[in-house]
Amino acid sequence: MLLCGYCGEDLPPGTKSVEGEKTYHEECINLNIPRGQEALDTFRNISTQSNVLCMAIHVNYIHGLAKENREQNKRKKEKRAIKTKELLKNVTALRNSNSGHLLIHFVGREKEDTFTGAFDEFADDKLQTLIQDGSLFTDVYTKRFLSDYAIDLDKLQKKQHGVLEETSGKLEKKIKEHQSQQEQLAKLDLKAKETLGEELFEEIRKILRQKLVETSQELERLKNIKSKVEKKLSVCVDKDTLKDTHQYKDFLVLYVEGGFYLTTSDSKTKIALDERIISPSDPTLIKFLKNRTQFKSVHPSGHTLEDLTKLHESRSVQFKGYFKGKETDEKIVGFMFDDHKLLEYVGAFTKNTEGGTYFLGIVEKEHFFNGSHYKSKFVEIQRVPISSQQNVAAKIKEGVSKGVLICDYDGNEANDELVDVFFIPSGDSGKHDADEKAPEHFIIQIHVKPVSGIVFYDKQGPQAYRVEGDTITTFSVKEWFHAVIENSVVRWEIYV
Ligand SMILES: [Zn+2]
Repeated sequence: MLLCGYCGEDLPPGTKSVEGEKTYHEECINLNIPRGQEALDTFRNISTQSNVLCMAIHVNYIHGLAKENREQNKRKKEKRAIKTKELLKNVTALRNSNSGHLLIHFVGREKEDTFTGAFDEFADDKLQTLIQDGSLFTDVYTKRFLSDYAIDLDKLQKKQHGVLEETSGKLEKKIKEHQSQQEQLAKLDLKAKETLGEELFEEIRKILRQKLVETSQELERLKNIKSKVEKKLSVCVDKDTLKDTHQYKDFLVLYVEGGFYLTTSDSKTKIALDERIISPSDPTLIKFLKNRTQFKSVHPSGHTLEDLTKLHESRSVQFKGYFKGKETDEKIVGFMFDDHKLLEYVGAFTKNTEGGTYFLGIVEKEHFFNGSHYKSKFVEIQRVPISSQQNVAAKIKEGVSKGVLICDYDGNEANDELVDVFFIPSGDSGKHDADEKAPEHFIIQIHVKPVSGIVFYDKQGPQAYRVEGDTITTFSVKEWFHAVIENSVVRWEIYV
């Protein structure tokens, strides 16, 4: 069933759509979208932030429904996932564009409803994943209904005036303190070492300098607070516009603070733990790219059945079981790419000194050794039927080279053959067809080379967004590398 491009809810059956274009509810076209635009215009008039974005979510997704069957529940999950993606895209863009507001239009919300917990439950965990610079959730996000702005603004301004007065007082005191510390230091230098002796002189000097540094830092901090509050107060809000906001009880305003460095929504690359592979955090990714580790080339060889039985899964070894019967070579290669995430492992293994190895046809099975009371695991060898080794190896290599994006540490695209494929005979099934040549059975071993650079499991590369004008744009691969390496996306306030 088609979904509405605005509220995300199902469109009535039989709705016509044009390929590549969004389709909307009649009600959304005539009522909701214009209302969203009005709210956006109103908010832009009272906001001190240049970045204001808007999105809509139907209340059906964030609240439990009075009547719900299993099928509806499943559909609801899918629809929520689409809106989650949209939310994260908007918020990432604001994190990467110094800060801003996201207006969220709750389509279908009752006027009397003042509960916000359902949205918090829907959004908070996801919003928290976008904070990777160590900031507190409460410092990065604030939420308030657009209709509350008028009431709150008066109170807010009063409070801000108070803060401004207090900060100005503190600042004055600190400036005096700073001056007197500078004078003390100058005096000390004049009196020189003779009177005090060298050791004592150096010690006093050290203490004074330390104090001076501390005072300067405090001074900077206070100046920052003062300029922030002044900026907020300098915006004159027209009273009529404020009154306008009263009617928008169905718009939540989410404030998003800018990040200290680039926020990537999906890095499209993995790193290996010993137990599994995960997406790296932003700081890990930044550190990896800045370290520019140069890997030595490795010369892999095929394993024997004998050494496989002693091998276990680790940061550089991944086993995948084969539980199908006779299949075509194409299908078997397909399982690895589609069901068993081969490309994600390739990306993770290229970051190991020795690379890594991915096996199809081995499983770790639970086992009690000699009647022991605890569960452990042993390796079970399986049989993967292969008709043509040459064909399978070529298909794997082709799939890898078509599926990944390889870049050096500066973001230049590179071409490299990442994998070697080996086939380890794993025994005969015992069934021989008289006419047909039975396929032989193997374990497929794919060795991944280390790469001095980064390998993404998506040709498009990493996903990161920013706000340009009123719209969201995607970082190109080159821009992403630049932003990560040069720290070009940072909150300007920390430098003022
Ligand atoms: Zn709609």
